[in-house]
Amino acid sequence: MPELPEVETVKRGLSPVMTGARVARLTLRRKNLRKPFPRAMKKRLEGLKVLGVSRRAKYLLVNLENETVLIWHLGMSGQVRIYKKGDKVPKPEKHDHVQIDLSNGVTIVFTDPRRFGLMDLAPSDEIPTHPLFKNIGPEPLSPAFTGKVLALRLKGKGTEIKLALMDQKVVAGVGNIYASEALFRSGISPKAKAGSISAVRLGALVREIKKILKKAIKAGGSTLKDHRTTDGGLGYFQNSFAVYDREGQPCPGCDCNVARTGGIKRIVQGGRATFYCPRRQR
Ligand SMILES: [Zn+2]
Repeated sequence: MPELPEVETVKRGLSPVMTGARVARLTLRRKNLRKPFPRAMKKRLEGLKVLGVSRRAKYLLVNLENETVLIWHLGMSGQVRIYKKGDKVPKPEKHDHVQIDLSNGVTIVFTDPRRFGLMDLAPSDEIPTHPLFKNIGPEPLSPAFTGKVLALRLKGKGTEIKLALMDQKVVAGVGNIYASEALFRSGISPKAKAGSISAVRLGALVREIKKILKKAIKAGGSTLKDHRTTDGGLGYFQNSFAVYDREGQPCPGCDCNVARTGGIKRIVQGGRATFYCPRRQR
């Protein structure tokens, strides 16, 4: 599933090619993805100039003229391909459900095999109070997300820290993989009670969350260069995992005898897999 770094990477790919161009043609090859496309979507979008592309949590926000915002979620398996002017756009395949042709000759294709993606339109001034966004916590990469802010949000919470990090109301879109990785890097057990972790340790956790997300975005950015010539696969950061999906292996820098300790442990929290080192995370 695309997580924040993947969505940010897509945003950074789309922003320079979309900004300033007009939607010349919108092609919808079905009536719906996870939900029906908004009413008269084609008519409402065609002709509008794109003012910019931003991101909130795991949603892309295409800001257009007439105070119109296209809210776009990539779902579980959604992929975006960008064809520059002069590129040959291949014949649409089965799951190429949406195509956006821009006035600058760029074509954007959204492929969503499992159709968990979403597209909606909203007036720009309604975004902060929109049902999808009104209860979402701070962006993890924004200066507004600090150890102090996290401590305040976790105050009195008896939930396990891993689950608290996955709660969108606490912080937006950290995601399952990066929550495990950041907890490992800050030496905090995923099972620690959220409200009982010291402000200093939460400060370290926030720094590690920012670091790992930035690192993942960087890895994605370099992949995006040939996004349009490859199958557009998301999830190129897997080579850098310290604990995620590494059950039974030694964690990086660990001196423990895996035969005796069992190495990295996998547990399930809130239905999602968590990976951690019980020796180095307390
Ligand atoms: Zn270890």
